[in-house]
Amino acid sequence: MIADLDRILISRERIAGRVKEMAKAIAETYAADEAAGLTIVTILSGSLIFLADLIRELPLKMKIGLITVSSYRGETTAPLGARIDRDLNVDVAGRHVLLLDDILDTGGTLRVVRERVAAAGAKSIRTCVLLRKLAKAPADVPAEFVGFDIEDDFVVGYGLDYNDYYRNLPDIGVLRPELYKS
Ligand code: 5GP
Ligand code: MG
Repeated sequence: MIADLDRILISRERIAGRVKEMAKAIAETYAADEAAGLTIVTILSGSLIFLADLIRELPLKMKIGLITVSSYRGETTAPLGARIDRDLNVDVAGRHVLLLDDILDTGGTLRVVRERVAAAGAKSIRTCVLLRKLAKAPADVPAEFVGFDIEDDFVVGYGLDYNDYYRNLPDIGVLRPELYKS
């Protein structure tokens, strides 16, 4: 599996350190209004590992919501638009919502989820992503909490997949370009 990587971009140690820092910033933001209640809406499947690590650093009372969005990538790496595959499984009316995604690329995924959560009557909506491709992220899809800004390479590991493989890599790496179709 590791032989399929061109290089490691972000090591597991750097990820762990940054996740702790992000958790601290998130805890400070939501501590002020803990009574309203926080729901972390996780966009599956790429955010699974990020969610598991992040919430264990967050000493807040919270609920977890799940939503599955497909960006029609399949065997190519180019985004073709986003669609909700499995709808949000919890009621977020009146609650503070933190959207959690692995990576903010063209913003199509987060735009769809934000609209869904807003329509459900959330009290506030903020966004947390582990990675952001800064060159591409559009201005109308803001992220308040960002782990790392990266170049426009196709990355895998720490939950991020190519054709559903490589999610279990503990580090984030760049896939060898000859292995994927863009
Ligand atoms: P967007 O909708 O912002 O274009 O893309 C967001 C989704 O596309 C992410 O949730 C992720 O599933 C996928 N994605 C975007 N860039 C990458 C990448 O470099 N590697 C992987 N594995 N997935 C990506
Ligand atoms: Mg994803």
